[in-house]
Amino acid sequence: MTTRIPHWINGAPYQAAAERTGDVFNPATGDLSGKVDFASTKVMDEAVAIAKTAGKAWAATSLTKRIEVIFKFREILNNRKSELAAIITAEHGKVLSDALGEVTRGQEVVEFACGIPHLLKGGFSESVSTGVDVYSIRQPLGVVGIISPFNFPAMVPMWFFPIAIAAGNAVIIKPSEKDPSAQNLIAQMWKEAGLPDGVFNVVHGDKEAVDRILTHPDIKSVSFVGSTPIAKYIYQTGTTNGKRVQALGGAKNHMLVLPDADLDLTADAAVNAGFGSAGERCMAISVIVAVEPVADELIKRIVTRMQSIKTGDGSKGSDMGPLITSQHRDKVKSYIDAGVAAGAKLVVDGRDVVADSTGSGYFLGPTLFDDVKTDMTIYTEEIFGPVLSVVRVKSYDEGLKLINDHPYGNGTAIFTNDGGAGRRFQNEVEVGMVGINVPIPVPMAYYSFGGWKNSLFGDTHAHGMEGIHFFTRGKVVTSRWLDPSHGGINLGFPTHG
Ligand code: NAD
Repeated sequence: MTTRIPHWINGAPYQAAAERTGDVFNPATGDLSGKVDFASTKVMDEAVAIAKTAGKAWAATSLTKRIEVIFKFREILNNRKSELAAIITAEHGKVLSDALGEVTRGQEVVEFACGIPHLLKGGFSESVSTGVDVYSIRQPLGVVGIISPFNFPAMVPMWFFPIAIAAGNAVIIKPSEKDPSAQNLIAQMWKEAGLPDGVFNVVHGDKEAVDRILTHPDIKSVSFVGSTPIAKYIYQTGTTNGKRVQALGGAKNHMLVLPDADLDLTADAAVNAGFGSAGERCMAISVIVAVEPVADELIKRIVTRMQSIKTGDGSKGSDMGPLITSQHRDKVKSYIDAGVAAGAKLVVDGRDVVADSTGSGYFLGPTLFDDVKTDMTIYTEEIFGPVLSVVRVKSYDEGLKLINDHPYGNGTAIFTNDGGAGRRFQNEVEVGMVGINVPIPVPMAYYSFGGWKNSLFGDTHAHGMEGIHFFTRGKVVTSRWLDPSHGGINLGFPTHG
């Protein structure tokens, strides 16, 4: 049975039938599970008009009342997180524990947003001139747009909307058309939490919907997460249309392993970070840079661990689920073919995996390459699948240069027992998020998430203080009040009633 997945506009599912729809599959079985409505420009315009009106009233609602709603939303999300995780697994394919993990990491941003009254406080300077005070305030932007990728259907939007809403904005979110249902459940949660209708709107679709977000004059900012070519397009088009844009792109994350590293810890980390979510994480480790003589022993331990990974249906207790679509699975397979053709050594081949699943899901087993060279496509390009490459280098310096020369700069990690080497790495590496003996260094909500180079366009990272700044505009007020003793008529000193 296929379900219709409508937009959520003005606090309710959108009734009118869509002219165009997209197919949604269960990647573990290959079954068609839903048909998602695609918004036309006209529907997007309708949603933005509603958001604009609702946003004005929301911005004028007291901070105390706004925060009450955020707290309630946090409670509802916390109580219903298993339900949300099950939806994610059904449409994305990642295993249930992983889906639950993504909701928890998103919830952290909601909790951060609960503390926004403190973070929105401005500065005040008394008597900068005789009788003159100066102070700063931060105000919401109005309607903000969020465009998200398939790989974190709940967490990535939650990097942005809790802060945007707490700051007094209205939101239009365009989720990935591949796994759209998570945001519809989140919209229901907002309604239940008491958020006024029209402040949180989910408008599904493809390029047509995205392009309208980029050009609509009443959308003031765009937060995008997805592949690098689209991120570049979003940044260029959004900024040309006068919007504030943060566009997070693709990744190729390196793990530098020094000879003194704890090899069991390192092998565990490489396997977890390489194959978790079938490698469909922007912070997945895809390249191990092994400083010799560490490679042979490390590969041995990684292979042992890979043999115990059960690939199959994520809702039924497997370790690693399918890829998002059959087309994507075939693309990842073609990278493996290309790696073999280019002369890399295929140590573990996941192409003929027998998955634990009924139906015909989009599975690919964990794959490991050794002797990968930096001119091979399996090294230069983002694969976004369960394929781990080992590049052997002779020294720390050679490994560092390789990482710094790569066009992506999202995440990286060093594994070593040498504190001095770790400290040098954190200083010298040209990457936005760095782990020291930590493989997936996703920052906590009160820090900001974002990469360097081709992994982020714009200058503002997600959440933390950068998120507060992104979703508000600063204003500075210079004021002088006449001294009541100074004039003839004394109307008394103004007080705040
Ligand atoms: P994608 O770029 O294909 O799609 C992202 C969003 O853009 C979707 O909502 C999609 O509908 C829209 N889109 C796609 N093509 C478009 C077009 N031609 N014009 C306008 N909009 C378009 O990305 P994806 O496949 O959904 O997600 C995987 C990618 O996202 C990977 O490259 C991954 O590294 C990246 N990602 C990055 C981060 C990060 O923090 N840097 C986080 C998660 C995912």
